[in-house]
Amino acid sequence: MKKFESTRIIHSNKIKKIIEENYRIKTIEIDHSIEALPGQFLMVWIPGVGERPMSIGNNDPLTISVANVGKVSGKMHELKEGELISYRGPFGNPFTLPQNGKRILVIGGGYGVVPIYFLAKVAKENGAGVYSVIGGRTERDIVWEKQLFMVSTETFITTDDGSRGKKGTVLVEAEWLIKEKKIDHVYTCGPEKMMEAVAKLCKEYDVACEVSLERYMKCGVGVCGSCAVDGKLCCQDGPVFTGEEALSISDFGKRKRDATGRLEDI
Ligand SMILES: Cc1cc2nc3c(=O)[nH]c(=O)nc-3n(C[C@H](O)[C@H](O)[C@H](O)COP(=O)(O)OP(=O)(O)OC[C@H]3O[C@@H](n4cnc5c(N)ncnc54)[C@H](O)[C@@H]3O)c2cc1C
Repeated sequence: MKKFESTRIIHSNKIKKIIEENYRIKTIEIDHSIEALPGQFLMVWIPGVGERPMSIGNNDPLTISVANVGKVSGKMHELKEGELISYRGPFGNPFTLPQNGKRILVIGGGYGVVPIYFLAKVAKENGAGVYSVIGGRTERDIVWEKQLFMVSTETFITTDDGSRGKKGTVLVEAEWLIKEKKIDHVYTCGPEKMMEAVAKLCKEYDVACEVSLERYMKCGVGVCGSCAVDGKLCCQDGPVFTGEEALSISDFGKRKRDATGRLEDI
């Protein structure tokens, strides 16, 4: 009953704070807190425009980060502090929370760092050791660095062009961290090519891995079928999948957003 209710109830609360992270991402802090687990998402609604899934970056205050790539996200970028924002949720299967004393590696690319931070924060509160890697195309694409730094034993940055941190993909830091720090569990969210590489690396080193998938969702609650992936629904069975599950999905790692936000096959 509770789950059914949460699919229907639309919350509208005031925007407490808007942070301009970079040329295309804004963080929206909402004057509200909810019971949510890392990896879950909200369906954020702009009346008359549409509804889109957004990862939860924090539950208190409720926080999301939005990249301006299209119709609905563009309208979200026009919202101002003090105005109302509407949403349903939380929805989706969360990440598995590590037990006390476990060592985890969290890897975020672009706005994928948002759910990864929420996980890292809760994992640290639960007594896990957290190492983190943030990847971006350039220095300008690195977001939520301070937040991750605050909850991690060590944080590493990589950029494709070397303008910040080590030059290359997140793998240049992830591989030695897995070996040297004796990582028990890796969690990742970001571009699929990156997550595919991380999942393969974890398979090679026999380390548990979870990834958060992004698919086009309309309802968020398993009714419309828009987010079907090889017989599974991203909204209900995911968005978090094990690395093994993700690697078995036929189009995993074969899609990316171009500069305009369009999802295209690689
Ligand atoms: C679980 C989950 C969590 C997410 N978390 C975040 C988040 O934290 N922050 C964030 O910014 N975004 C997040 N997203 C993405 C977000 O939900 C929207 O997809 C994104 O904001 C684009 O919506 P839009 O209306 O702005 O763009 P649209 O106008 O819908 O699309 C922009 C462009 O992409 C194309 N397009 C859209 N979907 C597809 C598709 N399936 N295949 C091919 N082309 C397509 C459109 O044709 C258009 O050219 C998440 C998605 C999921 C599934």
